[in-house]
Amino acid sequence: MRPALAELVARAERLHEDLELESVREWKGTARRAIGYMPIYVPRELIHAAGMLPVGIVGGGDQIEIIRGDAYFQSYICHIPRSTIELAVTHRLDVLDGMLFPSICDVIRNLSGMWSLLFPERYVRYVDVPQNYDAAVGGAFWMQELQSLREDFERLAERKITDDDLARSIEVYNDNRSALDDLCRARSERPWVFPTSEMYLFLRAGCVLPPEEHTRFVRAYLEEAPRESERRDRDHSRIVIRGTFCEQPPVGLIKTLERAGCWIVDDDLLLGLRWLTQEVPVDGEPLRNLAQAFLRHSSATASRYEPERTKGNALVEAVRGTRAEGVVFCAPSFCDPALLDQPMLVAALDRAGIPHTQFKYAENTGQFAAIREQAGTFSDSIRLWSGA
Ligand code: SF4
Repeated sequence: MRPALAELVARAERLHEDLELESVREWKGTARRAIGYMPIYVPRELIHAAGMLPVGIVGGGDQIEIIRGDAYFQSYICHIPRSTIELAVTHRLDVLDGMLFPSICDVIRNLSGMWSLLFPERYVRYVDVPQNYDAAVGGAFWMQELQSLREDFERLAERKITDDDLARSIEVYNDNRSALDDLCRARSERPWVFPTSEMYLFLRAGCVLPPEEHTRFVRAYLEEAPRESERRDRDHSRIVIRGTFCEQPPVGLIKTLERAGCWIVDDDLLLGLRWLTQEVPVDGEPLRNLAQAFLRHSSATASRYEPERTKGNALVEAVRGTRAEGVVFCAPSFCDPALLDQPMLVAALDRAGIPHTQFKYAENTGQFAAIREQAGTFSDSIRLWSGA
């Protein structure tokens, strides 16, 4: 690998492995503040506008042994709450001045309650996002929530958040989402130049880097990766993966899919970083603009309300738009939102004649042989028999 690219990838790997949040500690120094958030969506613009750093927390992956985290949860739920508790009780998250728990599912709701009991002195908030997309109902509710969050962050940061501050932050995040859009588009066009197992590390860096720095980092990767002459297309199938919006699969699993003959050309990994699908306007009332963007331009996913008859349309469009040949549902074990949505998505794919397969993972899954066999067979069957 060329040294410039190797250096970028090495930095992305270091950030991915940085469970101690050293980069956040460095950014904070002694005077600044950082607010953690769980997947999927929180309005990071408001945290940024208060001069604080939003920090995405997605559990401990396959890097930590769960010793105390298991004691807080029953066995038949996903893994991310246990490893997040483990990170917290081992003081790895002490650098955070507060924690947001967006409403995705009951597990995250319970985790927010657990947090309040464990850390009564810290700022904790359950962020109840709208489930009604009527501007007069869900929109009015979300405006109130955003205003209330704004006041919380003003108290924590000990400064006012003006409309100008917020408009500037909206611009910064528009820029960041545009870089991520470019990255996803480039990956979809040439997945051998931007393999998802590598691109994911650059996406993931957005959990801990300030957005301005993350945008530069992603743009540098976009420039460097195509200079790598060794990267060639292979006889792989083009697939979309779904189910990975919250608990993250280990990078080894993504690599396994690639080694099994699948180019991943679209995904829902860390969807919160790409939640808003269009630029948020900077003119006018910024809080209203953020609220409207959530209602009108947020990603279709299991934790967001959609009328039943439209479920699956976005997935079929993603397959068509990226010239994918099949879908791999790969969801965390026991993830209610992902697994409850799956039958409706499967029905939409069946109607459209798009092949699919499914398996489950945990963030600390270490054995990939069965997944490799299944994904390899799926990829082969697409290439040999599918007319999709
Ligand atoms: S992985 Fe699924 S069930 Fe678990 S916290 Fe995330 S959304 Fe909820």
